[in-house]
Amino acid sequence: MPKTSKIHSTSSRPKEVTRSDNENLVYVCCRCSKHYKRQKNNFPASQSPIYKGNGGYLPICNECLEELLTHYKSVLGNEKAAMKRICMKFDIYWNTEIYAMLGNEYTNASRIRGYISKTNLIKYVGKTYDDTLDEEKLTFVDSGLTDSESAEGSNEKDKTPIDESVIRYWGLGYPPEMYRALEARRAYWMSLYPEGTVLSTGEDAILRQICNLEIKINKDMAADNPIEKSVNSLNNLLGSMNIKPSQQRDLDDNYIPFGVEIGKFEDDYPIEPDPDFEDVDGIHHNIMAWFLGPLCKTSGIKNMYSDLFEEELKKYTVQRPKYEDDEVAEDSDDETAGDL
Ligand SMILES: [Zn+2]
Repeated sequence: MPKTSKIHSTSSRPKEVTRSDNENLVYVCCRCSKHYKRQKNNFPASQSPIYKGNGGYLPICNECLEELLTHYKSVLGNEKAAMKRICMKFDIYWNTEIYAMLGNEYTNASRIRGYISKTNLIKYVGKTYDDTLDEEKLTFVDSGLTDSESAEGSNEKDKTPIDESVIRYWGLGYPPEMYRALEARRAYWMSLYPEGTVLSTGEDAILRQICNLEIKINKDMAADNPIEKSVNSLNNLLGSMNIKPSQQRDLDDNYIPFGVEIGKFEDDYPIEPDPDFEDVDGIHHNIMAWFLGPLCKTSGIKNMYSDLFEEELKKYTVQRPKYEDDEVAEDSDDETAGDL
């Protein structure tokens, strides 16, 4: 409930302001603070509902608008990109068709005002930068062609449509050229992995950021913008890509227990000891002859161990002495005696 004073006819609520009350007030540019008596001819008219409460005018004056155009021209390198950036900033409909209408009709400084006045033609009534975004999205999802592509002055570029899966992967809203650049980066990084490698969700997300950053850095370098921050982020991402995921892979796929590894090695390159050091205390022989041997023999297995056991056993087996039978010829007996 509004607070009311003791005199009931007044209220703390502001009195509703009507246009006629405002007419005598000055209009202030929200960028340079310059005061104007009238909005018309001093502020650019706007189709955007955002500025409806401001009488349908942008809150910055024409002079500031022209300064901004000059600024963006020097930053972005060309007038078309600069105008598009201003449209983006102030929710003005951007269309290369309108830009083409400018021709050589306007002087350099007033070209942005010329552009804005053309967006207020009946044909474009009610259109804002939202419509630009919708139109750009539609054109490159449907046909792979876009206004923004030609806006960058690159009509000669590859016009094959961008695959929908590619757009889903990188997200909506990029010009086709950007999708191609991103895909090229992704293909490069994936070529460094063994064929058929499938990245984990985490690695995939990092790779996506790496590709984006690489392209951003290239663009910034070309435009002489600072790149230190992006380069640092890129290095961090590359670190995460090399260290963390590969540790994960070691644990999952390449982990071989120590003994198994030695076994594999011994199969291919067995250690051949110097004969002097081969079974110095005979333990190896004893185990084979007196442990494995009897074990195999009692299990009824005939192999080198059981043979070894029998051979060894023979050494210690006492043979029942053989006495010559009476049947043996006497002369042989004599011979024996004669030998002795
Ligand atoms: Zn101003």
